[in-house]
Amino acid sequence: MNKALRETVIAGNWKMNKTRPEAALLIEELKNTAAGAGCEVVICVPYTDLETAVSLTKGTGIKVGAENCHFKDSGAYTGEISALMLAEMGVEYVVIGHSERRQYFAETDLTVNRRTKAALNAGLKPIVCVGEMLAEREDLITEDVVELQTTAALTGISAKDAENIIIAYEPVWAIGTGKTATDEQAEEVCAFIRKVVENKYGKDIAEGMTIQYGGSMNPKNAAGLLAKENIDGGLIGGASLNASDFGIIIKAASGGL
Ligand code: PEP
Repeated sequence: MNKALRETVIAGNWKMNKTRPEAALLIEELKNTAAGAGCEVVICVPYTDLETAVSLTKGTGIKVGAENCHFKDSGAYTGEISALMLAEMGVEYVVIGHSERRQYFAETDLTVNRRTKAALNAGLKPIVCVGEMLAEREDLITEDVVELQTTAALTGISAKDAENIIIAYEPVWAIGTGKTATDEQAEEVCAFIRKVVENKYGKDIAEGMTIQYGGSMNPKNAAGLLAKENIDGGLIGGASLNASDFGIIIKAASGGL
């Protein structure tokens, strides 16, 4: 399978931004671009915006994701939200293991794996984030780090379930910093991740998997990154908060529509 046959997914990660009225405004502004998109368009929004997003995106083609989920279905886990709760309200995607969760909220490879399984069990599509820190890149261990994170996240997950997983390669040094990996750096690691997936599940699953790049993707650099053979879309933070910037990235992913 080649790139043209894989699903390209442009997903916004709003992080801890947008009140409900602000969310409603941004979704309204996105509707036109999303209607003509030649790729899957997803907005991953704060829990407090989910209901607004699910309701306002009905019939628009825009899909809604959460930014995390817990690994238990219910129970005494104050402050947490389960994958089942998200699925019940119409959410379709969930970001798992974002580097900000790993850095600031003690997320580990083990909890990433458990959350990924919970998401799949609930029928959600997990967007699993992996990526190296700057010091790790400088120490030339990017591939070791990414391989470890990818295999840990996929532990105990069947090939059939793996078909519903998206992996986002997000070098930590490029997130929110304005420093983007070059097209070649991003392609090299995304191709490597596909190899890791192939070693575990075989060529068909690996060739069919959507692997995104994330890290300061913006209207200027998106087309170059998205043209690469192994980059099937983007996970976009800052630029997804602005309809015009996000729209340009969606158009770049749609073949410059
Ligand atoms: C992200 O939050 O996943 C991200 C890539 O952020 P930014 O685009 O702002 O670097």
